Amino acid sequence: MHKISKLAVLTSGGDAPGMNPCIRAVVRTAIYNNLEVVGVRQGYKGLIENDMYDMAPRSVSNILSLGGTILKTARCLEFRTDEGMETAYKNLKAKGIDALVVIGGDGTFTGALRFSRKYPDIAVMGVPGTIDNDLCGTTYTLGFDTATNTVIEAIDKIRDTADAHDRLFFIEVMGRDSGAIALRAGISCGAEAILLPEKETAISDLIDGLKNGHTNKKSSSIVIVAEGDKNGGVYDIAKRVEHEVKHYDIKVTILGHLQRGGSPSSFDRILGSRLGFAAVNALIAGETQKMVGLEANHIVLTSLEKALNQQEFRLESDLLLMADILSI
Ligand code: ATP
Repeated sequence: MHKISKLAVLTSGGDAPGMNPCIRAVVRTAIYNNLEVVGVRQGYKGLIENDMYDMAPRSVSNILSLGGTILKTARCLEFRTDEGMETAYKNLKAKGIDALVVIGGDGTFTGALRFSRKYPDIAVMGVPGTIDNDLCGTTYTLGFDTATNTVIEAIDKIRDTADAHDRLFFIEVMGRDSGAIALRAGISCGAEAILLPEKETAISDLIDGLKNGHTNKKSSSIVIVAEGDKNGGVYDIAKRVEHEVKHYDIKVTILGHLQRGGSPSSFDRILGSRLGFAAVNALIAGETQKMVGLEANHIVLTSLEKALNQQEFRLESDLLLMADILSI
């Protein structure tokens, strides 16, 4: 069993609201349990470049309401190489660090698992921090709730103008591989159609649906397109529909990076605190190569290997069915 005395915490991959409450919980839970804590700047890049600093309870004051991450984040190619991992390992050992909390998404966990298999004397615990909500072993990832609320707020505003002008809006939301934000935002905003990477939608079916909507006296229509939809991008889809659907003025909006920022919701503050607290307690209990998650409102541990298993990850089928039926 790993008995730990000093842990490092980092955030990696895309930033997600809720990372800061999680860092705060990690730091304070560790110190409460007489562990030393080191903050790593810019994810795996900071491990390789030895960019780390000692943290204390006051290092994380007044950060609960901040979006982004006080530790900064980065995408680091060098960590994918054996040399990069070895440098990171040596830097950690030189500081006497024997445990690592990594807050990030699937790429971050892939790196953490590889690293931990190479260097098992450093215990590793993952916290799901990604707006994509695409990991097995947790119903929600950190940042997903805030990002979805941000998207909903924006689409509600677009709906006002769409309705006033009899317009059809195509709105692109984040999600290269995951339609989780698109699906929930679509249901919450009453989108007429939701295009997702996980589900094929024929453009002809989309056109038929929009024509039916007009026949059924809809004064506006919203089509949400996740970034990763396979129909060729939001502008292309809008162009193909424009030829067939003449009764609406068609507009395209890409919400872009505004979806990532902002103060974390109550849900993400609590989730970040719970997961950070649980991650440190799991390391103290001798766990490694696991992810802390939330299932049925209980903290659960899942192996990093299983958390990354995309075969087991599915969007909820009832939401997919309901989205179609409620938009008639
Ligand atoms: P998000 O879901 O927000 O995109 P992510 O954690 O998936 O977050 P990535 O950029 O895919 O973000 O991964 C973060 C970092 O993890 C990468 O920059 C890289 O340093 C590391 N990483 C990813 N894949 C591997 C791998 N196969 N081996 C080693 N490290 C990796």
